[in-house]
Amino acid sequence: MTPISTSRLLLFTAVFLIAFTNVAFFKNILQVYPLNLKNGFFLLSLPITFTCVNIILLGLVCFKHTIKPILIILLLAASLAAYFMDLYNVVLDDTMIDNLFRTDLHEASDLLSIKQLLYLIVLGVLPAIVIYKTPIKDTTVRVFAQRRLTLMASSVLVLVTLLMAFGNFYASFFREHKPLRLYANLSYFVYSPAKHLKNFYQASAAEFVPTGTDAMMPATDPHRELVVMVVGETVRADRLSINGYDKPTTPRLVEDDVISFTHFESCGTSTSVSVPCMFSRYGQQDYTSDKGMNTENVLDVLKHAGVNVVWLDNNSDSKGVADRVEYRDYKTAVNNPVCDEECRDEGMLTHLQDYIDTHPSGDIFIVLHQMGNHGPAYYKRYPAEFEQFTPVCKTNQLEDCTSLEINNAYDNALLYTDAFLAKTIDLLRNNNEAFEAAMLYVSDHGESLGENGIYLHGLPILFAPQSQTHVPVIMWFSDSFDPKEVDIPKLRASRHASYSHDAIFHTILGLLEIETAVYQPALDLISRS
Ligand SMILES: [Zn+2]
Repeated sequence: MTPISTSRLLLFTAVFLIAFTNVAFFKNILQVYPLNLKNGFFLLSLPITFTCVNIILLGLVCFKHTIKPILIILLLAASLAAYFMDLYNVVLDDTMIDNLFRTDLHEASDLLSIKQLLYLIVLGVLPAIVIYKTPIKDTTVRVFAQRRLTLMASSVLVLVTLLMAFGNFYASFFREHKPLRLYANLSYFVYSPAKHLKNFYQASAAEFVPTGTDAMMPATDPHRELVVMVVGETVRADRLSINGYDKPTTPRLVEDDVISFTHFESCGTSTSVSVPCMFSRYGQQDYTSDKGMNTENVLDVLKHAGVNVVWLDNNSDSKGVADRVEYRDYKTAVNNPVCDEECRDEGMLTHLQDYIDTHPSGDIFIVLHQMGNHGPAYYKRYPAEFEQFTPVCKTNQLEDCTSLEINNAYDNALLYTDAFLAKTIDLLRNNNEAFEAAMLYVSDHGESLGENGIYLHGLPILFAPQSQTHVPVIMWFSDSFDPKEVDIPKLRASRHASYSHDAIFHTILGLLEIETAVYQPALDLISRS
């Protein structure tokens, strides 16, 4: 092969990235700026603008010895990003990157598919091999500097000219349609992990803040409370028959005397945001991942008050929430006796009675973190006997299935959660004599199931559809619960009111009747109703 200069190689790669890994970006642009006479020139200028930005960014770091590793890593990353954005319309923003950083192999293998492999090979590996094999032209420092300056200066010139020529369009593009930028492959993708690493570093460097160290059980509370909180996964509120869905997805809950809240907003659209956020003292407006990592959460407050706290996990992990309390992993057969194709949520119930019996004093708070409806392989999320709605999508490549098949697989998984919650309630009912027992079920976020071509979850909360942010919240109380403490008819009457994950921190404290300065009765579902 004929040797090529670093500047030319850089130019070719930047054009390749814009041309082949940005289908989702341009598709979404066209929805906001339809192709017509007025928008035409602006739309034509966009790929050129983004190519210029990429050239300028890469021009600063790509030299004789760095250019190959940098471009190869970029091509591989961009090909994966393109796969997710093109097929599922998810964007790779900080939260999504955060998810990728925290996702374990088990979840990642769910997301892998033949199509993804093709994306990786055609858009990533093959061009990377070409770059690897291409010899770099040997030049003097002077020639190199001349070429590089010419390339970068002309990119800056073109960029400035286009921004000025289409000033109004670009102003609206950057100001009013911020989310669109998230689809731009490369520019954001380079910047986002860098920011993530910075955040991660800052989070570990910041000072740790205790919370509710004054918490105590009031002497006036004569009862022992036993509360099981189920943290649900990827369940959207409108899919429960108890909330009015037309398929019987919650036949067991309909029979139990539960209270199902119908207007509950999630804090985020991904597990790694929603789970720490719902346990944190910060509301959705104030919550950041830094604050979540560096502040004690409601489980710590319960510990301060002397409550027995344990977290059982059949999902990925507790996202840092259970770092300072007892934690048991149910993802493998070591602890979980109910494993077939994968370990089932109901396995978490196996040793619960033992746990309750071996803690003869004090209140008990148990968290069960479910695998729930985690996608895209919904069909793997339930044992065979729960395959009630058919035909079912039996692949993780959702685009190969009909809408009916995807929805059936999702609804079958929900049917399994219904049975799991009913079993949890049965267990609590058996402890009616010794405890005031309650169950609190809260899903972390919803899921898009192909509406408007959007799948999965994780869109930035500002423009996420309701299907990703509207979550079910369900409560159940034992007969032994003191009616002075929980006015159930009144609570039931409030079930259609608007709430958010902000309420969970305070509702947990309310359920266990903990006294502390951080408790806000106005946010507690029970005292507020
Ligand atoms: Zn989740």
